[in-house]
Amino acid sequence: MSIQFGPEYVRAIAPYQGGKPIAEVAREFGLDEAKIIKLASNENPLGMPESARVAMQAAVADIGRYPDANGFDLKAAIMAKYDVPADWITLGNGSNDILELATHAFVQPGQAAMYSEFSFVVYGLATQAAGARAIVVPSKDFGHDLPAMAAAITEDTRLIFIANPNNPTGTFLPSADIAAFLQRVPPNVVVVLDEAYNEYLPPELQFDAIAWVRQYPNLLVSRTMSKAYGLAGLRIGFGIAQPAVTDLLNRIRQPFNVNSLAQAAAIAALNDKPFLQRSAQVNTEGYAQLTEAFEALKLTYVPSFGNFVMVKVGDDDGAGARVNLALLKQGIIVRPVGNYGLPQWLRVTIGLPHENAAFISALKALLG
Ligand SMILES: *Cc1c(COP(=O)(O)O)cnc(C)c1O
Repeated sequence: MSIQFGPEYVRAIAPYQGGKPIAEVAREFGLDEAKIIKLASNENPLGMPESARVAMQAAVADIGRYPDANGFDLKAAIMAKYDVPADWITLGNGSNDILELATHAFVQPGQAAMYSEFSFVVYGLATQAAGARAIVVPSKDFGHDLPAMAAAITEDTRLIFIANPNNPTGTFLPSADIAAFLQRVPPNVVVVLDEAYNEYLPPELQFDAIAWVRQYPNLLVSRTMSKAYGLAGLRIGFGIAQPAVTDLLNRIRQPFNVNSLAQAAAIAALNDKPFLQRSAQVNTEGYAQLTEAFEALKLTYVPSFGNFVMVKVGDDDGAGARVNLALLKQGIIVRPVGNYGLPQWLRVTIGLPHENAAFISALKALLG
């Protein structure tokens, strides 16, 4: 018998399955990399902002040195944008880092973390890695059922994750629902409000989650530079919470968890309003393009508030995997969501018009 290393709860973790990299699909299916279309990881189809490229190129000169461990300049940019003090900010190697730091800081084996069914897969992974128990609350209409989540809080619950908009379903919780929920959460339970797709919300749906951070010492708002800001490859995100929470996150993070190129690029991107506007515009138009096609094909989709749409591609539990494979063979990478318990659905990231069109025409040939 071979030796088994590590605790049982680590061995039980199923590794994260990301969107397939373009190079891997090219190798596997014998395709030309240049012709492959990737709509699988909710990346910005415009790529990185030019302002960030310039800032990063300037920062390359200093790459022989360690980054600023406290991210002074980047925190200054976040302070200016969100009107919070420096000791309310935690920088992360992607916002994924923030989610993991929160889990390790606030939950220990024997305690519980809570999240919704059909919510971001990393919540479950982080909970397992901490050896904690997961309380998974059944979803309502593909989104969070906040009253049910409040009712499911136990003595040993220490952390609750909420994604708004949610990934992979794209659902959105109005501010009144979240406000009512926060009132019901005991003060010793930390709530992570993960707003990875906030920048894609139309202005009338945007709300000031930082105002709740001022009100609730147990609220941590998480933001990423990977989606609308177009910096996924650099790995940069941040959390905003009052000092009691922020201090603990900063104690357990790696001292240099955010590299210097990411810090420089993030400052430029945070201040690049035209790029953000263009990204939102491309997204709005692409959403219309995709959903009109789904309607023409009589396919069910979940109305989305992010930069992706979940569409039902068949009635049998093999449908998602089958259509996904057929698309891969044509060089179109989308995301099957069987691992979320949604085997009849695919999640497609909103791309540039020609990318959306290629996906639509392949889908039409397969299902039309
Ligand atoms: C993409 C995503 C993130 C994290 O992205 P990072 O690249 O790690 O910043 C966090 N939460 C949700 C819901 C996401 O979809």
